[in-house]
Amino acid sequence: MARPERRGARCPSCKTHSDTPHSTYVRRPADLPAAGRSVQLHLHVRRFSCRNTKCVRRTFAERLPGLLAPRARRTRRLAAAQCAVGMTAGAEAGARLLSPLAMPTSPDTLLRLMHRAPLPAYTTPRMLGVDDWALRKGRTYGSILVDLEAHRVVDLLPDRSAPTVAAWLRQHPGVELIARDRSTEYSRAAALGAPDAQQVADRWHLLLNARQMVERWLTGAHARLRALPEVPGVESSPVRRHASFPRTRSEERAGEESRARRVAAYEEVRRLHLAGEPLLRISRTLKLARATVRKYARAETFPERAVRVPGPSILDPFLQYLEQRHATGCANALALWREIRARGFGGTSRQVHRWLQTRRTAPARSTPRTRCGNAPNPTNPRPNGSLPSPKQLAWLCVQPQSALAATEAAPLARLEQDAEAARVLALARRFCELVRERGVTHGAEPISSCATFEQWLAEARTCGVRTVETFAQGLEQDGDAVRAALRARAPITQPW
Ligand SMILES: [Zn+2]
Repeated sequence: MARPERRGARCPSCKTHSDTPHSTYVRRPADLPAAGRSVQLHLHVRRFSCRNTKCVRRTFAERLPGLLAPRARRTRRLAAAQCAVGMTAGAEAGARLLSPLAMPTSPDTLLRLMHRAPLPAYTTPRMLGVDDWALRKGRTYGSILVDLEAHRVVDLLPDRSAPTVAAWLRQHPGVELIARDRSTEYSRAAALGAPDAQQVADRWHLLLNARQMVERWLTGAHARLRALPEVPGVESSPVRRHASFPRTRSEERAGEESRARRVAAYEEVRRLHLAGEPLLRISRTLKLARATVRKYARAETFPERAVRVPGPSILDPFLQYLEQRHATGCANALALWREIRARGFGGTSRQVHRWLQTRRTAPARSTPRTRCGNAPNPTNPRPNGSLPSPKQLAWLCVQPQSALAATEAAPLARLEQDAEAARVLALARRFCELVRERGVTHGAEPISSCATFEQWLAEARTCGVRTVETFAQGLEQDGDAVRAALRARAPITQPW
């Protein structure tokens, strides 16, 4: 139990001092624990009459600003302790932790305390990273500003326009280096807001742009590349299934119908695109996603969906044995299953049954006569091995070659049989190397990456593949920032 000892108090409205008591009441705020037990104060708070006859208040309660906010149910020092725990552990874990520490509270209250805490002060960073972040992906974007030396977010801006970012830069002079993507908005913002700062194209975005360029080219050429034969001897993948198990007939039919719809959409997009209609308008009229319209407009033939190669299965280690047994004439799924179960297979007989279905050349003896006409296709529908999608291939292409597994390198080797593909792949790989290495010594002579970048640029601009030439032109337009990225003692390689 406690009571304030000051004589009188000031009216919060008119600031007139009063020591005319009106009444008292009890406040029971929670306080810091004592000796491991939670503490509740019993504060006898006085109410005074305001002596100022013109004041809007007749009476007022005395305030205890150092200890307790008006109407608060916990003391300031308890709130500070709880907030510190919440900041470190998070709301849910923090609330669990605070209970045995005798400062119990709910996760929601912790969140409220944390939201109310003032933002930490920051100094204007010397090296600033600018990128966009999605409030709602595809719809609303803001800008995120990061101190690249302290690895801390400095500020979030409500949009990604040049004036907003430029205004921030003007209010926070002293930024010496700005790392950004290659959008014109951010480069304009930097030029407007901090004209003296060095602009650097963010290397992560350079790699991203290179991958997107490869993907764009592959999308257009995928149909042609799929016809390329596999390179013999390169694929050293372990025994795996190459196609998924056959689907039911209704699934098959649904798949065919969906493909027909996509082909129709593709033809319509191509027709409108060749007639000179802007992509945005095509996307609106046909109610197709913009990315889809862009993909269709670029592809010279209908881009088939990549066949998903099934992931590893517990059946894989037994495939070789099953093949052998099947070759000797055993087509009894149950018998095969019993045999491999004795060898350690932990799955069900159904898996063996489904595998066997893909191997059958004649309907099983147990199949009813009426369904014999629809026996599964005996020949493997994709003897050539499927090619990964443009997205997957582009990803493989920009990886360091030494990091690729043999199975990952195989589709790339298959692509390289095509002269144009080989040219695109080689240029993309060299560009990625340049971005990754930056000024690394070659042999005894240290060659700056920039010299090699100029060679790369000259080659790429005249390579005869339009997608690559456009990419190179874009880099040339942003040349200073790109060269700075290849030269700089690099601020970043990662998205934040
Ligand atoms: Zn008053």
